[in-house]
Amino acid sequence: MNYQRLDPDKKDILIVDDLADNLRVLSSLLTREGYKVRKALNWQMALIACQTVLPDLILLDIMMPEIDGYEVCKRFKSWDLTADIPVIFISALDDVFDKVKAFKIGGVDYITKPFEVQEVLARVQNQLALRAAQQEILNLNIELEQRVKQRTGELEKTLQKLQSEIISRQQLQKKLLDIALHDSLTGLPNRALFIRRLEKALNHAKQEYNYQFAVLFLDCDRFKVINDSLGHLVGDELLIAIAHRLQTCLISGQTLARLGGDEFAILLENITNINLAIQVAERILQQLTLTFKLTRYEVFMNASIGISWGNKDYDRPEYLLRDADTAMYRAKALGRARYHVFDPAMYQEALQLLDLENDLRRAVERQEFLVYYQPIISLSTGRISGFEALLRWQHPSRGLVSPTEFISVAEETGLINTINIWVLQSACHQLRVLQRHSLISQSLTISVNLSARLFLQPNLVAQIDQIINETKINAANLELEITESVIMENINTVSSILQQLRQRQIKLVMDDFGTGYSSLSYLHNFPLNALKIDKSFVKRMQENQNNMGLVPAMISIADSMGMATIAEGVETQEQLVQLRSLNCNFAQGYLFSQPLEPKLALEMLTTTPQW
Ligand code: C2E
Ligand code: MG
Ligand code: MG
Repeated sequence: MNYQRLDPDKKDILIVDDLADNLRVLSSLLTREGYKVRKALNWQMALIACQTVLPDLILLDIMMPEIDGYEVCKRFKSWDLTADIPVIFISALDDVFDKVKAFKIGGVDYITKPFEVQEVLARVQNQLALRAAQQEILNLNIELEQRVKQRTGELEKTLQKLQSEIISRQQLQKKLLDIALHDSLTGLPNRALFIRRLEKALNHAKQEYNYQFAVLFLDCDRFKVINDSLGHLVGDELLIAIAHRLQTCLISGQTLARLGGDEFAILLENITNINLAIQVAERILQQLTLTFKLTRYEVFMNASIGISWGNKDYDRPEYLLRDADTAMYRAKALGRARYHVFDPAMYQEALQLLDLENDLRRAVERQEFLVYYQPIISLSTGRISGFEALLRWQHPSRGLVSPTEFISVAEETGLINTINIWVLQSACHQLRVLQRHSLISQSLTISVNLSARLFLQPNLVAQIDQIINETKINAANLELEITESVIMENINTVSSILQQLRQRQIKLVMDDFGTGYSSLSYLHNFPLNALKIDKSFVKRMQENQNNMGLVPAMISIADSMGMATIAEGVETQEQLVQLRSLNCNFAQGYLFSQPLEPKLALEMLTTTPQW
């Protein structure tokens, strides 16, 4: 059924009254005013009228037989379609009209018979206007709701877009942060992230009395040898393998980071005592004794570990790492492949080391270095065959400082290059001075120690050539002392440099033989003229009267390879006798002379002593 109104402009009024007269009067009155009026004599007719077209207003008589106005009104109000149609009651003046009841069941107004024309019209118009206004509001509400719905939909879409953009930005940011805080080779946290975690642990310790933690600083021993000899790709592969191996020594919640190069750090949080940190260090050292099986090589790689014990008194996380680093250096100095626990005295030493570094720089500028000369005795003639040039530092406040106290620092800082070349120059110059002396043999040699660092300089040979030219010495009188580390740390380049030196008749001496890598295999591959037996073996020779320790074996090895032997640190007559009996070629030590300043070295030579 269609309840659309027929003429939308004409308001439709339904009059329900059992009296035909009433109907007529009202109908003509309203029709005149331009309303469309329909009439019903009872409920049934009224219902049919509404089912055909919904009226805009109902005028309803109260007094009707069978179903009275109240009941009809109730029925209209209970039916959805008609519930909103305003109902105006019609009552005769003498009717018993219950207004309260009329309003209660939904009537909006009433008119009384006989009809007062103006009043009826006013009340009808009023109700129609009210209803129109209500409908307008309803329509506006619907429209508003639709707009809100549409706008909400748009907003929701925009919101979704924004949210997904935020998420993708967050993901990107997280990725960037990840990159910034991780090491690209191993995927481990890097120094920045490690410091953050360390800072957190430190703050935790400052707040919670019982909270304790430790830092391990790990540096691979001689990693450079792998890089130099097998190449960086193998070095990288090894670093990844080391990272994995270290991870297996840790449990979750313990942070392993790569600080750079071959350095790693570990943060052990919430541990109850230092022994737990030591146990971790021991486990790592144990694990590192197993070989690393790389794609093409099997290699060994051990490490030195420094441990610092976290404590709330540290101002900055970096200081904790620094102390673990200092302890690690101590572990290296004590022989590598071990751990060392930091103690505050070490910090003082580290500071002194820094002082030393600064002093050393100044010393280079102010030329505070001297060269002393220690005679080397030929055991066949018993006479001085040459001198070893030994560096001394004339420190403005500390006096004469031994090279053992500053050579390693000079090497670390790179100052050794300048210093060592200067020693070579002075020594060659000194040789020239000595050789001018008529009493002195032209075969007198001068030995100069060369640091491993020098072999990294691309122009080492050219520099040596230049010094030989300038000082006009015979290259055959020059001996260069190198240690095993020169070979091990520069395996790629050193062979060709040594060959070039040999072509110039310069003699090459392996210094401190037996104290380093103790690998005999390299001896064959390098053009060495002599082995210098370290003073520690000479010293032990006396302790082992029967077999004289390793010295006989060393001499025979040198012999078999056509090399001469020089014994270092000879202090007693007995040692001299023993060395002679073993056919050692040369000797050097306090028995003959301390290292001397140049003037005294010349004096000694000219007195031609003999042993
Ligand atoms: P080295 O080359 O093995 O030098 C021998 C060291 O033993 C010297 O110490 C010398 O004074 C000392 N010595 C000599 N005779 C005896 C002895 O009978 N008993 C004992 N106990 N020691 C003796 P020095 O002069 O303190 O030099 C120490 C090290 O410093 C040298 O060991 C060398 O490795 C390094 N060095 C010295 N001068 C230079 C240099 O000009 N350049 C480089 N790169 N290193 C140098
Ligand atoms: Mg030496
Ligand atoms: Mg030596």
